[in-house]
Amino acid sequence: MSSSRRPNSEKEFERAQKVIPGGVNSPARAFGAVGGHPVIIDRGEGQYLYDIDGNRYIDFVGSWGPHILGHRHPRVISSIEEALKKGTSFGAPTLLETELAELVADLVPCVEKIRMVNSGTEAGMSAIRLARGYTGRDKVIKFAGCYHGHVDSLLVQAGSGALTLGTPSSPGVPQGCTADTLVLEYNDIAQLKETFTQLGDQIACVILEPVVGNMGVVLPEPGFLESVRDLCTQHGSVFIMDEVMTGFRVALGGAQQRFNIMPDICMLGKVIGGGMPVGAYGGKAEIMDAISPVGTIYQAGTLSGNPIAMASGIATLECLREANPYPQLEEKTQRLTKGLIAAATKAGLEHTLAECGSMFTLFFNPEKVTSYAISARNDTTRFARYFQGMLDRGVYLPCSQFEANFTSTMLTEEDIAHTIQAAEEVLQEIA
Ligand SMILES: *Cc1c(COP(=O)(O)O)cnc(C)c1O
Repeated sequence: MSSSRRPNSEKEFERAQKVIPGGVNSPARAFGAVGGHPVIIDRGEGQYLYDIDGNRYIDFVGSWGPHILGHRHPRVISSIEEALKKGTSFGAPTLLETELAELVADLVPCVEKIRMVNSGTEAGMSAIRLARGYTGRDKVIKFAGCYHGHVDSLLVQAGSGALTLGTPSSPGVPQGCTADTLVLEYNDIAQLKETFTQLGDQIACVILEPVVGNMGVVLPEPGFLESVRDLCTQHGSVFIMDEVMTGFRVALGGAQQRFNIMPDICMLGKVIGGGMPVGAYGGKAEIMDAISPVGTIYQAGTLSGNPIAMASGIATLECLREANPYPQLEEKTQRLTKGLIAAATKAGLEHTLAECGSMFTLFFNPEKVTSYAISARNDTTRFARYFQGMLDRGVYLPCSQFEANFTSTMLTEEDIAHTIQAAEEVLQEIA
């Protein structure tokens, strides 16, 4: 039924599958968890996406986070156009790189110095190398359900015991790559303390999402981020906050500002590029200066700090700084989430909704989600039907229960009403 509205998407996806594995350049875009085939996008405008069959959708994915200002924001587009006139890449310093670095240092509390890369994955890979090189230690603590890009050492699942080292979660990752990665339960302060007690002097860093977006939205419990900060300080480990999703999203200065917890290093991505490929890692100057060419820890990139990408990021961050849309965006998001909760309650569906600023997840699970173990107990079959029903009604949601929905400043009251109305119908249908 649903695919009949998208004959061109169906046909073109067939074509794509012949030359691209699974027809997609990132597995998150495949509809594996919800069935059917991806919608092929023609263009975006403000809060809307248009597919190649001419259908319009209210977009709650925003390219998985970057488009907090909506698609084709006039200032972002004109900044890109200006930069284009001068050339696309030089492999030599430009003013735009310094400008974006200054902007980020001004807005993000922990950033004194910053290095631009091309993706969140690269930021994660580089931040971990930096932490290991700086401390001279090997072990890394990560939390189950947090995603930091497809870095070998982080593609890992928890071992059987709490303090066992992780095993690779993807073929192609050698055991050796994950042998120094410890996977703990998010929000479990006691487990974290115990781990530091046993191994503290070997731990290079703790890496986490300060608000998790990659197992659905999961908030830090009171005291959790504080404990990570304290334990890292006590044991001389580097605290890496992965703000690729939360940076410029949950507050202008990211989650570190919202929760008032200062990491040593933070990773950025998504909003920082305003839709162009930008990642970054930054923090204390003393640590950042350990990377080449000042220090000896190697990290490089032919297209890093690319002028077109920098121009997009600068315009995006300047708009956010000038307009400070966060309080309004949060209120608007809450009008939407209240409507979704009411619709689920009216349909008699077990649910819980987690939100922070302009990111949220409606879980088909009555339990408050505080960890991966709880998130994994969701009714994903029900989610798949919810997703398809919403798509048929012109609402484009992330195609997995374990992703965050994003709102943009362009979203109108009419869009919110449309989305709530669609949810009421769909949730009744699937109850
Ligand atoms: C998206 C994401 C990444 C990876 O970024 P890419 O640009 O996709 O490599 C890393 N960490 C978090 C928290 C993310 O949400």
